[in-house]
Amino acid sequence: MTSAPNVMSPRSLLDCSRAELEALVVEMGEAPYRGRQLWRALYHELRESFDDMTSLSRGFRAALHQRCAIGQLETVYHLTSRDGSTDKALFRLPDGELIETVLMRYAPDGHRKVRRTVCVSTQAGCAMGCTFCATGQQGFRRHLSVGEIVSQVMFMERLARKEDELEIAGGMRSKGDRQGVTNVVFMGMGEPLANYDNTLNAVRTLNDEQGLHIGARRITVSTVGLVPQIVRLANEPLQVNLAVSLHAPDDVTRAETMPVNQKYPLRPLIEACKTYIDKTGRRVFFEYVLLHGQNDSVDQARELGRLLAGVLCHVNLSPVNPTADGPFGRPTRVGRLAFQDALRDYGVPSTIRMEKGIDIDAGCGQLRARAVGVE
Ligand code: SF4
Repeated sequence: MTSAPNVMSPRSLLDCSRAELEALVVEMGEAPYRGRQLWRALYHELRESFDDMTSLSRGFRAALHQRCAIGQLETVYHLTSRDGSTDKALFRLPDGELIETVLMRYAPDGHRKVRRTVCVSTQAGCAMGCTFCATGQQGFRRHLSVGEIVSQVMFMERLARKEDELEIAGGMRSKGDRQGVTNVVFMGMGEPLANYDNTLNAVRTLNDEQGLHIGARRITVSTVGLVPQIVRLANEPLQVNLAVSLHAPDDVTRAETMPVNQKYPLRPLIEACKTYIDKTGRRVFFEYVLLHGQNDSVDQARELGRLLAGVLCHVNLSPVNPTADGPFGRPTRVGRLAFQDALRDYGVPSTIRMEKGIDIDAGCGQLRARAVGVE
């Protein structure tokens, strides 16, 4: 069993792996196939109560009521951006901690179909202290359990399925074209690889073919650059994407906004990424938040180009979402394009991220900051 939050509560089924759930069911005196039915009711049918699990016998449902909880999240806020592209939810956990989750909708862009990407949190708060990040300014509270991570995706999956049904009813898509959530990124509150086991177990649950069945290649785990965990991840038999936050092309500049750089500077970090590429054969995504006046000059783009030239990678450039008390603004459009041009000169591919959810504070940790401010 994976670690759960330190509160007295019935056993949360969403914290269990499929094997653990099947063992629990057998321990309760039921046939093993009941475990598979229960897993399907949770993750395929997305049942929110035991009473709704009509494929299970009445007696078994009563026993589940006695011993277990599904492990739902309490919704504090659920907001939709004006353009309808982004939803953001703030959840309260049983011990009062607040976490947030974002759903981003992307229209088809030539070679790719419609995407619905969920950005999940893996910790309440964060210990990494990045100065441009609202969560980093709030400090670390605790790790999230597997169920608390997976529940965030399930909440957005229910929303996505309702949208699918409306679009099917309106003739906008065929019955066979239900999509639900298509991608998951572990880029919300917290450092996913600091909560390594629960993050990886959540990936396994999301990926399970008897449940949500989100392809591993559609799941991205991000890290601020924890070198030992990157090397550990390289040896996992999982096809997930790895995204590493760089945010600066040199140690001095990086340490100014990312305290983690003192422990894991750029050289060992890039070496760990090369190990990951060698072992998995997969490219690494480097995240680079453009902070005006801090890391967004053309000279810094050239230095980044020299650092990454020849590395199998892709750089995602994201203009910062300014926080109320944060010191950094966004670069101009001309400045962003000049930065990207300089990277191209070194053969380093990059994308400037579409800006989503600015009006609902969709940047990391910002909605919680507002909720805490009004309580
Ligand atoms: S950017 Fe990510 S790693 Fe850095 S403080 Fe914020 S949540 Fe933590």
